Amino acid sequence: MRSGMEAVNQSTMDWVDKWLKNIRPLFRPCVLCGDRVQASSGFCPPCLGELPWLGAAVCRRCALPLAAAAAVAEERTCGACQHHPPPYAQVWAAFRYESPISWLLQRLKYQGHVVYARLLGEVMAAEWLRQQDVLRRPELLVPVPLHPARLRQRGYNQALELARPLARILGVPLDHRSCRRLRPTAMQAGLPADRRRINVRQAFRVDFAGVNAGMGAGMGAAEVDCGVDFAGPPRHVAVIDDVLTTGATAAALTECLVAAGVARVEVWVCARTIR
Ligand SMILES: [Zn+2]
Ligand SMILES: [Zn+2]
Repeated sequence: MRSGMEAVNQSTMDWVDKWLKNIRPLFRPCVLCGDRVQASSGFCPPCLGELPWLGAAVCRRCALPLAAAAAVAEERTCGACQHHPPPYAQVWAAFRYESPISWLLQRLKYQGHVVYARLLGEVMAAEWLRQQDVLRRPELLVPVPLHPARLRQRGYNQALELARPLARILGVPLDHRSCRRLRPTAMQAGLPADRRRINVRQAFRVDFAGVNAGMGAGMGAAEVDCGVDFAGPPRHVAVIDDVLTTGATAAALTECLVAAGVARVEVWVCARTIR
């Protein structure tokens, strides 16, 4: 009897061991605390809850926090945007550029941790869907391009890598071919605002010919929602980037997209720098 129980226990243990070996790949450590979480998310629930979410009490135009009184007003735009409206119609950000998001984005951008782009892109998509009642779904996602020299150096474009999960989850086509960076710009980080504006002036060229040619030649098939075709330039584009600080890069690219015939350009970033 006893040996029988032991045999059962042993076979149960073998089964549990085998099951754990199979199930383990479905779980992975939380990128922040190391707790095991389901592979569908890179963050455990407590860490996810403590991320520096930007929330909705922000200027519709530039995504900087509004005073509580202004946040409930109809316009929901800050004084700066009312006096000098930026070229883009709206900035949408999931987070404030604060730790640990800033840490993750720096590791994504400068230390080759490209896997963080998928985690952050998925979290961005979930947050966008949570707020979708007050948002408008664009026709096309356009990641801010890197200059080819910078792309060779880094090996990937962090904006494109963030845009991939967004496109997949939101079901919006992704176009990373129509927009090119014409000249390498000096590193933006650390430059004062006026220098940043000069730095990015005439840095981009937009040509939607690839999009209009049936979405085939210019774009990877996996990144295109088949059946979408534009008779002209898309009417509503969301530019995707990792961080928005002064908005100079986003403004320069927006001006190019508007010149190419896009009626509404939004800027979606993972994190907004709050001055
Ligand atoms: Zn955690
Ligand atoms: Zn504003």
